[in-house]
Amino acid sequence: MSVFSHSEFDNHQQVAFFKDRASGLKAIIAVHNTNLGPALGGCRMWPYASDDEALTDVLRLSRGMTYKSALANLKLGGGKAVIIGDPARDKTDALLHSMGDFIEGLGGRYITAEDSGTSVADILKIGDRTDYVSGVDKITAHGGDPSPSTAYGVFVSLREAVYHRLGRSDLKGVKVAIQGLGNVGYRLAKHLREAGAVLFVSDIIQANVDRAVRELKAIEVTGDKIFTLDVDVFAPCALGAAINAQTINQLKVSVVAGAANNQLASVEQGHQLHRRGILYAPDYVVNAGGIIDVYYQRKMLEDNYGLEDYAADLAAKVEGIGHTLREIFVRSDSENVATFVVADRVAEERFTQGNNLHQSSPVEPASVQSKWPSGNSVL
Ligand code: NAD
Repeated sequence: MSVFSHSEFDNHQQVAFFKDRASGLKAIIAVHNTNLGPALGGCRMWPYASDDEALTDVLRLSRGMTYKSALANLKLGGGKAVIIGDPARDKTDALLHSMGDFIEGLGGRYITAEDSGTSVADILKIGDRTDYVSGVDKITAHGGDPSPSTAYGVFVSLREAVYHRLGRSDLKGVKVAIQGLGNVGYRLAKHLREAGAVLFVSDIIQANVDRAVRELKAIEVTGDKIFTLDVDVFAPCALGAAINAQTINQLKVSVVAGAANNQLASVEQGHQLHRRGILYAPDYVVNAGGIIDVYYQRKMLEDNYGLEDYAADLAAKVEGIGHTLREIFVRSDSENVATFVVADRVAEERFTQGNNLHQSSPVEPASVQSKWPSGNSVL
């Protein structure tokens, strides 16, 4: 297994490997960049087929966190952790404590949170051994779970993209296909339904589909038909690589905006969407609500920063995702380059300089005013 020459290495500042025979823990922590602050990112537990697969995943995800936090204008760098193992079978208190020791050993360069295969309860267990945890705040709504904020950020993004591409100032009657009705997808569907959108949904768990049909009057779509619908928006909220060499040619939508990480199987699909006139709202901009939430949860550890500050800052920042997207769309149009290219450039400018934090909305020119009200409650 090569590390420095790995195709995803991309100037990672630190990659740490940890094995504890007693608890059975095998884990990797990747710290991509800390120029803007400590690296915050989730801890994923997954039965990877090989160590190399785990390394590839953690490197790719941790790099993504650097870009996500930079574009959300947070004082955070990018990092991620993976535990190699089956969460249903291998997760024990001893293993999670051992993971806490591993994180503690990095001295605060990396802060962890929930991800696929780990829950708030697991992060609390890790937190028995280290203070470098977030997304577990008991006094916030939802017990620290960032999914509601992620879902609201996706809603704000989708609304902005529909306005930009379709010129629609509301979502009444706008047809949206949602793939995946989990923690984020279902909440997104609820926001959309309340805004008057017509929903088409798919999930491999039938109970999730049934609930959306029953409670949100959504229309059930089976399997891969979700890619082929003649609707306005496709919202990928399941796994990565939803937009790939096969699915891209099936899409008839005007907008792609969803929660899933790494929606594009490769950059080529991002360029293709642009050439086909399909407006792609870059995933890591759209789904930043979660990292914004855990960032402000952690800030509550500081003196003089309470629940009201948290709620106000969170609401403003998640609404701000819409402003950031608007600027990305405008630049993409004027420079005729794909939206993901513009997003990457802005993020890279920020984290390579590492000195332009919290400027007053550097991606919000006066010429581009939103039609949307700000300050909606996120929680
Ligand atoms: P989740 O596991 O709760 O939900 C995912 C849903 O997708 C599940 O209901 C699952 O059955 C369904 N699914 C899986 N494969 C599918 C397929 N082929 N077709 C249709 N449905 C399928 O996860 P989540 O927390 O809702 O996150 C959704 C996506 O958003 C993930 O890619 C995640 O990485 C990303 N994300 C989540 C957050 C967050 O705050 N939860 C933050 C940022 C990004």
